Amino acid sequence: ISDRAFVINNKNFHEYNIRFTNIDIFGSLHNILYFCLILMIHMQIPDIIIAIDGYSSTGKSSFAKIIANEFSFLYLDSGALYRGVTLFAIENGFITDDCTIDVPGLEKAMENLDLHFGEGGTYIGDRCIEKEIRSLAVAGKVSPIATVPEVRTFVDRKLREFGKNKRIVMDGRDIGTTVFPDAELKIFMTAEPMIRAERRAAEMRAKGQDVDINDVLKNLQERDYIDSHRATSPLTQAADAIVLDNSHMTMEDQMVWIKEIIRERFGL
Ligand code: C5P
Repeated sequence: ISDRAFVINNKNFHEYNIRFTNIDIFGSLHNILYFCLILMIHMQIPDIIIAIDGYSSTGKSSFAKIIANEFSFLYLDSGALYRGVTLFAIENGFITDDCTIDVPGLEKAMENLDLHFGEGGTYIGDRCIEKEIRSLAVAGKVSPIATVPEVRTFVDRKLREFGKNKRIVMDGRDIGTTVFPDAELKIFMTAEPMIRAERRAAEMRAKGQDVDINDVLKNLQERDYIDSHRATSPLTQAADAIVLDNSHMTMEDQMVWIKEIIRERFGL
């Protein structure tokens, strides 16, 4: 058993595991081996940055969180910071209903904007804004706000701070092209628009928001358009990014896919 334990990889381990699941005496051995395997994976993965970009509601953040958890990396949601600036701009009158932005006013006010991540999500000062930034009201204004170069500079500065120690998974629109162009692994995510809208609507309903699927679809298509056509750091696939179309993939399928890539690239 110990000879084989040294050469097992994930797949073989599961086969091995299945073979012995019904024999109680192997229960604790199984746990020890599993623990060692996880430890080996964590020790072996090099210090890298994983950049995940793509269209709205392609499941970037769920995917990124699971990858981060699997390899004990830090997960960072760059969109949350753009949403945070947007909430701040709405609440302080720097953006009108028709999305006219007072750029000089917003730029000045951002000098004192304490936007950061904390327990349970995104904060302005000591106020948790996680729920508000996920509303359609914020989603409807975030892309125009994200076109403002001064806003992008403000957010990029914060994001790059996190990159210093590597071992992060960050999702967004320009992570592999602008924020971390040297990221060791870049994924570009896409999926059919209606599938994305259905997923996002289900997510919002689960959080108690009453949403119409057509509004959700319209919002994500508008955001994709603005994000892809802005002058500063538009949403575009980095030349060295690997495309993941997850229209018909479960999260499990996606994890099998990424683990295979990580195994090939980094020899795990
Ligand atoms: O990822 P999420 O949907 O929360 O992002 C909200 C918006 O923030 C995007 O539609 C985009 O306009 C902006 N964004 C961006 N660059 C990023 C992340 C998000 O412009 N890196």
